[in-house]
Amino acid sequence: MLFEPYRNEPFADYSDPETLARFKQTLADVEGQLGRQYPLVIGGRKVETGEWLESYDPSRKSRLVGRAAKGKAAHIEQAFEAAEKAYEGWSRLSMEARARTLMRLAAIMRRRREELAAWLVYEASKNYLEAIADVAEAIDFCEYYARQALPLAEPLKTHDFPGEENTTTYQPMGVGVVIPPWNFLLAILVGTTVGPVVVGNTVILKPSPNTPVIAGKFMELVEEAGFPPGVINLLTGDDADLGDALVDHPRTRFINFTGSVATGLRIHERAAKVQPGQFWLKRVFLEMGGKDALIVDETADLDLAVSAAVASAFGFQGQKCSAMSRAIVVEDVYDEFVERFKAETEKLTVGPADENHDVAAVINERQYDKILAYIEAGKAESRLVTGGGAAEGDGWYVQPTIFADVPVSSTIACEEIFGPVVAVMKARDFDHALEIANGTMYALTGGVISNDRARLEKARREFQAGNLYLNRKITGALVGVQPFGGFKLSGSNTKAGGPEYLKCFLEMKTVTERF
Ligand code: NAD
Repeated sequence: MLFEPYRNEPFADYSDPETLARFKQTLADVEGQLGRQYPLVIGGRKVETGEWLESYDPSRKSRLVGRAAKGKAAHIEQAFEAAEKAYEGWSRLSMEARARTLMRLAAIMRRRREELAAWLVYEASKNYLEAIADVAEAIDFCEYYARQALPLAEPLKTHDFPGEENTTTYQPMGVGVVIPPWNFLLAILVGTTVGPVVVGNTVILKPSPNTPVIAGKFMELVEEAGFPPGVINLLTGDDADLGDALVDHPRTRFINFTGSVATGLRIHERAAKVQPGQFWLKRVFLEMGGKDALIVDETADLDLAVSAAVASAFGFQGQKCSAMSRAIVVEDVYDEFVERFKAETEKLTVGPADENHDVAAVINERQYDKILAYIEAGKAESRLVTGGGAAEGDGWYVQPTIFADVPVSSTIACEEIFGPVVAVMKARDFDHALEIANGTMYALTGGVISNDRARLEKARREFQAGNLYLNRKITGALVGVQPFGGFKLSGSNTKAGGPEYLKCFLEMKTVTERF
């Protein structure tokens, strides 16, 4: 083995006064760097376009985190030129050499992990633990994919045929477009980029307009790690200028997308059309949303159920694709669960991420308005238990909100809200709870809190979720440990951080020679 064995990057313990003090100092240092400008990066060139996308701290509305250049149509063409040119050399480099570049990127991120976490606090309102977990995951993706890539350089096992040499090998595909969301602004951006890149593809990275500054910081790391110019190109800008144009482009070979089901389905449809001058089928990977449920039955340890529910529902303000947005509780323990869930939720503090509150601001005004509208819909459809509106402060704060007695087919029981709002539903028994859990178009994460072996086994078989958690919280998948991704309309099941992921970005070639 080329590299030492893989292990997950640890988080940090901010209950330790020294660690806490050091991170506060890092936050102060990074605060002094806010407001800077970040260019596009095309073929290693830094390109300013005269127009800027502004990124503000969701926890303190007027604090400018930075400005990113707005890319336009001409930059898309330049980015394809650069990525195609870089592909010639990068795709022919040995797998080991590319893997080492990822290892170096991981090492640079590890050395700067506290600083990167501080940027996440400011740009996305992550509290300290959420921020360092996001950075650790980004490091893990590099470390894990570097190792996973190595055996893919070897020919596949096939049978012999007399008088012939037959070899089947993997090869990269070409230039892909990477489209990550804002919620794991470093981890998903890094993972969806370095996966295709390590096996020899080159990419155009189009981050979310909500979090372009971290993308600019990432490009600094990419340069330092020694990726050749053009292997990773950055196009920040408005979705209206870049989204469809990149997806439709005849030179796009594959699209690696993570985001909402609405955008994912749009990409799915548009990418299916073969454009004039396009000589391949675009491969499309879509990791999309969830309406993730935790089932609690009458045999459950209710302390565990409540702590799992609080952590899964309100971590990072519920803005995780894996977040628990439905709690489905068997009627025998329903009232007690709701009461205790309410009590624990009311202990959460709401406030600025830089002060490390349990629940900080949601990402922007649009999401804030959308979540509040869902809360109003919830009030009309069901019983408000706690929360129920905006929270005080100079940011996009929403109270952690619980609704009970939510009808199974109501809006807040069916649609992904992507905020700190939970729909609690009553089930007659475990089987009924499972039926409710499966009654959605999504199948991303899910969980069961129960002490009944037969039911846990049934859930293993029948609970429709790409990531099912038994007797623990349903968020926090670890790279290389819990390959992540769903099925049904939650996505194409690429399983990020899993052993099959890199094969998505390769094609196979068979060569037969007779002597
Ligand atoms: P989104 O769909 O609004 O945006 C995702 C990305 O698509 C962004 O980069 C955005 O700029 C881009 N985009 C927007 N319009 C586009 C277009 N027409 N063509 C191409 N790209 C376009 O999602 P979001 O709000 O950024 O992220 C939240 C969503 O992501 C939630 O639904 C969440 O569940 C999902 N998510 C899923 C996973 C997973 O692994 N399944 C992980 C994280 C987030």
